[in-house]
Amino acid sequence: MTDTSLRNRAGKAVPTESIAAFTNEVRGDLIQPGHQDYEDARHIWNALVDKHPGAILKCRGTADVVAAVKFARANDVVVAVRGGGHNVGGRALCDDGLVIDLSLMRGVHVDPARQIVRVQGGATLGDVDRETHVHGLAVPFGVISKTGVGGLTLGGGVGWLVRKYGPTCDNVLSMEVVLADGVLRTASADENPDLFWALRGGGGNFGVVTSFLYQAYPVSTVFGGLIVYPRAAAGEILRAYRAFMDKAPEELTVYAGFISTPDGTPATAIVACWSGKDLAAGERAIAPLRKLGEPLMEAVQAMPFPAMQSILDTAFPSGTRNYWKSAFVTGLSDELVEVLVEQAKGMTSPLSGLLVEYYGGAGGRKASDANAFTQRGSDYLIGFMPQWTDPTEDDAQIDWAKVAWQAIQPYATGGYLLNYLAEGEQEAVLAAFGVNYPRLVELKRKYDPTNFFRMNQNIRPDA
Ligand SMILES: Cc1cc2nc3c(=O)[nH]c(=O)nc-3n(C[C@H](O)[C@H](O)[C@H](O)COP(=O)(O)OP(=O)(O)OC[C@H]3O[C@@H](n4cnc5c(N)ncnc54)[C@H](O)[C@@H]3O)c2cc1C
Repeated sequence: MTDTSLRNRAGKAVPTESIAAFTNEVRGDLIQPGHQDYEDARHIWNALVDKHPGAILKCRGTADVVAAVKFARANDVVVAVRGGGHNVGGRALCDDGLVIDLSLMRGVHVDPARQIVRVQGGATLGDVDRETHVHGLAVPFGVISKTGVGGLTLGGGVGWLVRKYGPTCDNVLSMEVVLADGVLRTASADENPDLFWALRGGGGNFGVVTSFLYQAYPVSTVFGGLIVYPRAAAGEILRAYRAFMDKAPEELTVYAGFISTPDGTPATAIVACWSGKDLAAGERAIAPLRKLGEPLMEAVQAMPFPAMQSILDTAFPSGTRNYWKSAFVTGLSDELVEVLVEQAKGMTSPLSGLLVEYYGGAGGRKASDANAFTQRGSDYLIGFMPQWTDPTEDDAQIDWAKVAWQAIQPYATGGYLLNYLAEGEQEAVLAAFGVNYPRLVELKRKYDPTNFFRMNQNIRPDA
């Protein structure tokens, strides 16, 4: 028996014979250290994450996922589940254990008559947008096309359609999920409703979702884009943004941020998307945002929804180093605006951003325990998002986010957006689950009593 790099939880190598039998059973490739694709397969969007899994199974279907769960269980191996690989904390990967990689499971099937979409668990937002757009439909997702539907949906999901249609998890009709015992179940309002409740906001804690069934909406051409003002006007622009959002219709989602232009000039950005049918009304609604000063740059127009969905893609390229700190705040007071203006001065990388996002609308009309997604209020989300390329800057960049985050604590609600949490923020994870945490612990005990699925925003069954 030769030593292998796939290790069980006690650190003992899994026997070669067991790995060989597993390799024979599955359709997907099992990639281990030394394989030509290993380096590529162990890297995700955030280059700060540098984990070395013992093996990565590129699943080719649900049967591979079932086999992987049973193999890992039998050999007491830690598993991680990779969807789009966009989790900033690197929860898609593990050291020594097995990665159940869904990145080849990206099928999308649209039923235009019923306006529903069946999506495999490893698809990206862009995969779905491309297919739904053919039928003039869209599912409410996040704002970057390469994010995975898996992690985004299970953690909630906010984006350009959130104010009108609610978070992504509110728009899931059913899921096929492989549980910790390797059994495939359906979770919907009629079948295993408690599991359905937990999966919509509870993160990857309850199983591997191999397919999602979503409700889609008639959204095809939208009106929106990007307006960039000088950084010197940031305070004024944020105050105007706040006044604007107080009255903005729910068809309109707008984010604001401190960014830099491609030549490195510090700037203030507004990104807006009108998803209502009447595009002329959208143009009128957005007009005040275009007159907040003398823009450095403006790209606001009617465009296909998939174009809007990828308008920020280049600002978040794969392979840069990233760390995020975020918090919900109670209103965007003048005082807080001044704190943000001050903290933005500490952003030394032109790739970094300080974002202000507002999701108030449809989601808030549901009770906070309607499903496991708790954060439904109409609070602003502040995100400190340093992004850099030089590893020697790691500590300084991470420190900036932590210091800036600390500075806004007097204004924080104590709530967090689960999807934005970096690694090791366990207290924030619990706060993000909020009132739903006790029920989530109960359901974790029922569906995953040994914490088999732990590489996630973890709910410990023994909590
Ligand atoms: C550039 C960028 C932009 C973002 N924009 C938004 C946004 O606009 N709105 C928003 O809400 N969030 C946004 N996010 C956050 C994003 O939703 C989360 O990071 C989410 O976890 C990413 O999902 P993923 O499948 O790509 O990630 P992964 O890293 O692959 O997975 C994240 C977690 O989900 C689990 N998981 C993934 N797929 C499955 C599955 N099919 N079954 C079971 N568990 C699964 C993983 O095990 C892991 O714990 C963004 C992230 C990035 C990096």
